[in-house]
Amino acid sequence: MKIKINEEKCIGCGVCASLCPKGIAILDGKAIVTDSNQECLKDAFNACPINAISIN
Ligand code: SF4
Repeated sequence: MKIKINEEKCIGCGVCASLCPKGIAILDGKAIVTDSNQECLKDAFNACPINAISIN
């Protein structure tokens, strides 16, 4: 799964990381992908309040 987080859009709310802690971490107030193979990344994608996450 190809996942991208738009750093400029991300507000660091942490919703994605709380839904997918094995796939996303918050670093310096921005979300970063730590494991792009996690299924829960889809949940994070759907939950981001400002659509900063994209999946291909
Ligand atoms: Fe950033 Fe969206 Fe994750 Fe919030 S849910 S930390 S805005 S990528």
